[in-house]
Amino acid sequence: MDSQATQGIVIVPEAICEEVITRADAFDAVEQVFAAMARGDACNFPVVREAIGHADALYGFKGGFDKSGLTLGLKAGGYWPGNMAKGLTNHQSTVCLFDPDTGQLSALVGGNYLTALRTAAASSVSIAYLARKDSRVLGMVGAGHQSAFQLRAAAEQRSFQKVVAWNPHPEMLPRLQAVAEELGLAFEAVSPEELGAQADVIITITSAFEPLLMAGWIRPGTHVACMGTDTRGKQEVDPALLARATVFADEIAQSVSIGEAQHAISRGLIAEGDITPIGAVIEGTHPGRRSPEEITLFDGTGVGLQDLAVAAVAARIARARGLGAAVSLG
Ligand code: NAD
Repeated sequence: MDSQATQGIVIVPEAICEEVITRADAFDAVEQVFAAMARGDACNFPVVREAIGHADALYGFKGGFDKSGLTLGLKAGGYWPGNMAKGLTNHQSTVCLFDPDTGQLSALVGGNYLTALRTAAASSVSIAYLARKDSRVLGMVGAGHQSAFQLRAAAEQRSFQKVVAWNPHPEMLPRLQAVAEELGLAFEAVSPEELGAQADVIITITSAFEPLLMAGWIRPGTHVACMGTDTRGKQEVDPALLARATVFADEIAQSVSIGEAQHAISRGLIAEGDITPIGAVIEGTHPGRRSPEEITLFDGTGVGLQDLAVAAVAARIARARGLGAAVSLG
């Protein structure tokens, strides 16, 4: 078989990513790479993130190598706060994939749509493995760009009947309500206390820097996927909730440094050893949820290997269908 790069470079723009990759593809890719990380077959490289001193931009790289999936590369990009005024998305990223046999570039893939897809896939993997099977009410904290992706992916994991939602900016909720109704789910805007009282599964996906959900508001048996905290200082839930819950993460190193666990760790409420990689549950080396009363919490910080995994799928399908631009290495 030809190596990846001898087939030339495939360039897959955003619109083609949206066309070729499904939520199910993203779920499978993220599930597999979390398992590979837990087996020690896949490794994320140290993240670089810098203020470049131009256009107020934050720019960086997230890279890694998955030996079992033969996926090598990086996502480059960041946050340009002035983009909205130019009609562009503030978050901008591109994934570069390399042939692990030769180091040659094999694909350039738009990373904006894939970031939302892979982030939603991560929380839905956590729901698939950790939420009670009889979960019926989904609680959404957050109503921004990512929230609709999160809701659509979560809705495929359990037989939810209703969405209860709260957002610090309530005017953003109607957009999320429209998605819930499109999925045939009842929708109720509630207070955060009421959300905790009703929800079987909760997804938090905000840019908060202080706890929005307190530990005492969460019912026994709830699964909480904390997806918004991906930077030092960000925080969505009461650190005491992590002490009450069994905590899982995409990657422990990120969970304790930039994830929701950073706060519980710094207060001495939990230790790094209390956090289990979700890949261990996928691999069957950790049982996951042990009882219907247990609170499970997934700290989804977003690792580079997730980006590479979904980008590799998009590149493979685009190449197979003759989509995107093909460039010969000469
Ligand atoms: P967005 O700007 O579209 O929406 C922001 C959301 O956060 C809204 O619900 C808004 O009401 C809320 N919010 C804004 N400022 C807040 C504040 N000071 N306190 C509390 N809530 C506030 O953003 P988005 O694209 O939907 O992303 C949401 C979050 O998810 C961001 O923090 C982003 O960095 C994070 N994210 C995480 C991953 C991951 O892999 N874990 C991936 C992508 C995005």
